[in-house]
Amino acid sequence: MAKVKTHYEDCDVLVVGGGMAGTGATFEARHWGRDLKIICVEKANIDRSGAVAQGLYAINCYMGMQWDENQPEDHVRYARNDLMGLVREDLGYDMARHVDSAVHMFDEWGLPMMKDEKTGHYLREGKWQIMIHGESYKPIVAEAAKKSADKIYNRIMVTHLLMDEEKENRVGGAVGFNMRTGDYHVFRAKTVIVAAGGASHIFKPRAVGEGMGRTWYAPWSNGSAYALPIAVGAKMTQMENRIVLCRFKDGYGPVGAYFLHLKTYTQNANGENYEEKWYDQTKELVGEYIDHHPTPTCLRNHAFIQETIAGGGPIQMVTTEAFQDPHLETVGWENFLGMTVGQAVVWASQNIDPKYTNPELTTSEPYVMGSHATCSGAWVSGPEDLSPPEYFWGYNRMLTVDGLFGAGDTVGGSAHKFSSGSFTEGRLAAKAAVKYIQDQKAENIKVTDKQCEDFKEAIYKPLENYTVGQNEITGGTVSPSYISPIQGLQRLQRIMDEYVGGIATNYMTNANMLKRGLELLEWLQEDLENVGAEDYHQLMRAWELKHRALTSQCVTEHTMFREETRWPGYYYRGDHMKLDDENWHCLTVSRRDPKTGKFTMEKAPVYHIVDEKEKKEAS
Ligand SMILES: Cc1cc2nc3c(=O)[nH]c(=O)nc-3n(C[C@H](O)[C@H](O)[C@H](O)COP(=O)(O)OP(=O)(O)OC[C@H]3O[C@@H](n4cnc5c(N)ncnc54)[C@H](O)[C@@H]3O)c2cc1C
Repeated sequence: MAKVKTHYEDCDVLVVGGGMAGTGATFEARHWGRDLKIICVEKANIDRSGAVAQGLYAINCYMGMQWDENQPEDHVRYARNDLMGLVREDLGYDMARHVDSAVHMFDEWGLPMMKDEKTGHYLREGKWQIMIHGESYKPIVAEAAKKSADKIYNRIMVTHLLMDEEKENRVGGAVGFNMRTGDYHVFRAKTVIVAAGGASHIFKPRAVGEGMGRTWYAPWSNGSAYALPIAVGAKMTQMENRIVLCRFKDGYGPVGAYFLHLKTYTQNANGENYEEKWYDQTKELVGEYIDHHPTPTCLRNHAFIQETIAGGGPIQMVTTEAFQDPHLETVGWENFLGMTVGQAVVWASQNIDPKYTNPELTTSEPYVMGSHATCSGAWVSGPEDLSPPEYFWGYNRMLTVDGLFGAGDTVGGSAHKFSSGSFTEGRLAAKAAVKYIQDQKAENIKVTDKQCEDFKEAIYKPLENYTVGQNEITGGTVSPSYISPIQGLQRLQRIMDEYVGGIATNYMTNANMLKRGLELLEWLQEDLENVGAEDYHQLMRAWELKHRALTSQCVTEHTMFREETRWPGYYYRGDHMKLDDENWHCLTVSRRDPKTGKFTMEKAPVYHIVDEKEKKEAS
């Protein structure tokens, strides 16, 4: 351990993760905190990191209030409907009322926006989406962050949060290591904003072996956004609400532009509209929610999954009609070139020209996210002007740990933020974090050298495990003394896949399976003490795995707690197959005790703030 060099950095605002939310937070922190020291720490390189690394073809959340296209209330109703009634409306409204200003800045900063030739408005793909030439989206927002921060640290994986030893339940910074140099980094900070993205690869992916990286969600999103707060006892919400995506098979290319802009549609292998076939059965499960417009994402998945189980697959996207129009054909291909080049390559390799062949669709393995058509994440305070007492404890987007803030995929309860809404939420969190400092809430934080040294020892232990254990390798990579990160990851993925509602069981689980899953996860945690890393890259893999495992435990506990099937098509509780509004029209909230590692669960009320406000105004 003596060989590892340690760097100390003291700062005011520490942003963990420089993706969409992290760049927004870094930018905004400077606006409000001109004289503060602002640091952003990123696992990759902020120019090309996070879910937007490859670029995007559409900004999925833009109200268009300047042209009266939508109002924040409309967006709240939309997100509420899509999530089967359960969202934090205060958070959604707060994001929606600010998101347009963030998009206008992207425009100013040089992001090429498509315009409607007749109106001059941003070109709409759908009600909420506007189209961009977005290959350079991420470098553009990264530049704003770089100009705002005192320093950006790339290639540092944050592994743990530091806690104040003077005042209970107050954050004190974070630690991590540089995976190129191996150096240990201690960031003592007055506030920390976690913006580390969601979690892929906790469930076994459809593509395994050589194709393992082929997932819809970025394979490098490893759940740090959840594991870091969970480990220090922050409350989490809706962690059972994992998302399953219906996308083009094998390349996971986007379908939004195809449905919305190209007006393509889906059919089963016999050319039938399979969605209407499952209407009655779905109504049995969820009641009137199936009659809502637009049909909630999970319910569309449900029809797809049921049709496939019933033997109606493969399900196809009908592209052969739209692609006869040369303009739409170009849009169809460009849609991939700006964000998922891999899909075009997959089609070429499978001899698919969508002008002549209707490509297959698939449903993905589940992912954990807080910003897409899903809302897993941390339980945070809302804004003071909107949030009821249960949702408000002083500072917007502050977790239940003082001084610890979140944004983007980190924050639970607020779906459909997407890239622009995550950036916006980063801005909101940063503004509140600066206020927290200015209100003198972060005075006299004490982080001892011992705390930092203890983490240092823990972080580098996988290297030690390997160094000692490699002498016992019995063949290939097999050692009786340690498991490699990939072995641990595959074990985790199988547990989640087979017991917690992955593809192996067509997303089905029940209390008995979950109970067994929890036991297996606990034993996995024990064995992860013996994970071995042969170099710094593998050390990162080891810590990614540990963060994924902790996230998975939380997902499983939540799934166990909610005794209903709220989102058929995302997962099913076979022992409680119906949606149960009487008992479960609520949010689920968990807390893991950092001392014992035990989770406790509770219900929190759902307030339909938007329509309650309107009802009051009308009366
Ligand atoms: C496949 C896909 C397609 C999408 N398409 C669209 C679209 O068309 N339009 C749209 O508007 N939105 C789209 N989205 C949504 C959008 O990408 C997300 O909402 C947004 O990126 C979330 O922002 P975030 O900052 O929370 O996470 P991210 O942008 O993913 O950023 C997280 C950052 O944290 C870093 N990080 C992770 N762990 C650590 C750690 N331990 N230490 C340090 N750094 C860490 C990561 O490297 C990353 O840079 C899409 C998302 C996906 C996955």
